[in-house]
Amino acid sequence: MKEVTINKKGENYTAVDIGSLNEINKYIYNHPLAGDMNGKVFVGEKLDTTSMEISVQVLPAGKEIPFDHRHKTHEEVYIVLKGKGQFIIDGEIVDLKEGSFVRIAPDAKRRWRNNSNEDLTMMVIQAVSGTLQSHTIKDGYV
Ligand code: ZN
Repeated sequence: MKEVTINKKGENYTAVDIGSLNEINKYIYNHPLAGDMNGKVFVGEKLDTTSMEISVQVLPAGKEIPFDHRHKTHEEVYIVLKGKGQFIIDGEIVDLKEGSFVRIAPDAKRRWRNNSNEDLTMMVIQAVSGTLQSHTIKDGYV
C-alpha cells in the first residue's frame, strides 16, 4: 500500500508528496461503509491542515460509488484533474470533464460515476461551510 510521504516540515509549513496521479490506485482507504477502497488518499492529516481536508481519488472506467453521502458541516469542492464522469446531486446529473469544479453544500445527497472509458481522477477539498471571510486575494498582504 502506498503512503503519503512528508517532503519537508518547517515551523509554518508542511510539504508532502502523493506521487504520480497515474499511481493513485495504489492507495487503499478503509471506508467504514465500503471497506477497502483502492484509489483514494487523504492528505490533510499528513499536511497538518487545520481548516480543510484534501483528498485525491481515482474511479476506474465504468464504476459508480454505490451509495449517496452527505456531510454534517463540510462543503466540498470536487476538481476533475483527469477524465470524465457524472455527479448525481439531489437527483440532478452534472457532467464532469477535466477542469470541472463542483461545489456541494453539506446537506446535499451526492454520488458520482465514471461513465467513460478512462479513469476519472478528482481532487476533493472539504472545509466548514460558511467560514470563508473573503474571496480572491483579499486576505493576503505584502
Ligand atoms: Zn464527502
